[in-house]
Amino acid sequence: MFHKILIANRGEIALRVISACKEMGIRTVAVYSEADRHSLHVKFADEAICIGPPRAAESYLNVPAVISAAEIADVDAIHPGYGLLSENANFAEVCRASNIKFIGPPPEVTRLMGEKSTARQTMKKARVPILPGSDGILADESEALDCACSIGYPVILKAAAGGGGRGMRIVRSADELPALFQQASSEAAGAFGNGDLYMEKYIERPRHIEFQVLADEHGNVLSLGERECSIQRRHQKLIEEAPSLAITPRLRAELGKTIERCMKDVGYRNAGTVEFLMDEDGKLYFIEMNTRIQVEHTITEMVTGIDLVKAQIRIAAGERLSEIVPTPVTITGHAIECRINAEHPEKFTPSAGTITAFSLPGGNGVRVDTAQYAEGVVPPYYDSLIAKLVCHGHNREEAINKMQRALSQFVVQGIYTSIPLHQRIFDDPEFRSGHFDTHFMERFFTRQGEKAEAEAKA
Ligand code: ADP
Repeated sequence: MFHKILIANRGEIALRVISACKEMGIRTVAVYSEADRHSLHVKFADEAICIGPPRAAESYLNVPAVISAAEIADVDAIHPGYGLLSENANFAEVCRASNIKFIGPPPEVTRLMGEKSTARQTMKKARVPILPGSDGILADESEALDCACSIGYPVILKAAAGGGGRGMRIVRSADELPALFQQASSEAAGAFGNGDLYMEKYIERPRHIEFQVLADEHGNVLSLGERECSIQRRHQKLIEEAPSLAITPRLRAELGKTIERCMKDVGYRNAGTVEFLMDEDGKLYFIEMNTRIQVEHTITEMVTGIDLVKAQIRIAAGERLSEIVPTPVTITGHAIECRINAEHPEKFTPSAGTITAFSLPGGNGVRVDTAQYAEGVVPPYYDSLIAKLVCHGHNREEAINKMQRALSQFVVQGIYTSIPLHQRIFDDPEFRSGHFDTHFMERFFTRQGEKAEAEAKA
């Protein structure tokens, strides 16, 4: 087992990894930017090294700075968390060259599965259904027009290096394609330094359903069931739950087997998530793979009882899945996660500043993953996620009732948060019914607007 791990991240996920290491008796090294000097991940790690100015490009994304810190602290391994360097194959390669274990898949596998249009082709070869679309990157608008013509409108243009819902455009007719192609490409170039686009058939009312996998370094792969992530705003997840009401035990088992076979074929290693869209007829199509731990890994932990971060570390240290995970994996009860963001609940603008009061809910089946505290600062430089509130119940109804109670006891003052928005969503009949798709939030906002108008008239 490793003696010392450097955590190349910040916020709640850095603290989450530190907690796993502490429980495993592994020493930890935090890295931090000047803006995060007083952060909890810095306080709770055994050692902490400042790696640069506030901007992520100059600190958390600065590979030489992170590697120097790892060498100075003499660590055996680096955990990248999610975002930042977690899916950067070059970083994993530098770790390997520096003789430091990267806790994640090898760079060759990240290249194969992390680039979205390559992953599509890989999955197609492994006989996993994909949506009709381009065979790879689109060379230009004219190739995009030909491709859209053969697939049939509507189509969606997507950034090959994409993430976080950026660089995507829905195209409903040939007339609007050239302008939307330019927009998507320049947005992708700005966000990811790569303007490459590919195309897929656009599904009007899909559910977003993803499968968690674990793969050891001996060729064993295990699917840990699915998460329902259809509650999204601007293609970004807001609320996740496990299991999904749309997946029967039989489908879970069948798809799990297909995914396990496919991950074996590609030589997948460590934790990963295989994402699908489900169409109106219940058919599932692969859309992308995330070659890292995800924000919403918590709900899979709650329903399976498996600590995914500890599993990642043990896999990277060479342990076999059979030593780490008791099989068969059983799904118990229902778990829901709310992403609590530092943002205005109606305008959705980021809300940086100092937290003046902070009190967390607790109780049976209530989990909060956060690195925030009273008098803590939310800097304007990073992701707006400040906490994840996770509730686990015997069934979906109990999990929802627990979430409503927990949200009402979650106090954050000094900045705006998405807590009031979450409270309204949990009161919404469509959400409570469980029958929704990725356009839920648009309908929800319309209903909210109508309600406000009726109240104003009364
Ligand atoms: P990102 O990596 O940016 O998160 P994804 O490929 O995972 O992008 O897609 C994010 C979301 O965008 C999906 O959950 C879904 O809501 C929407 N989306 C993506 N592809 C399609 C598609 N072909 N049809 C309909 N919606 C899509």
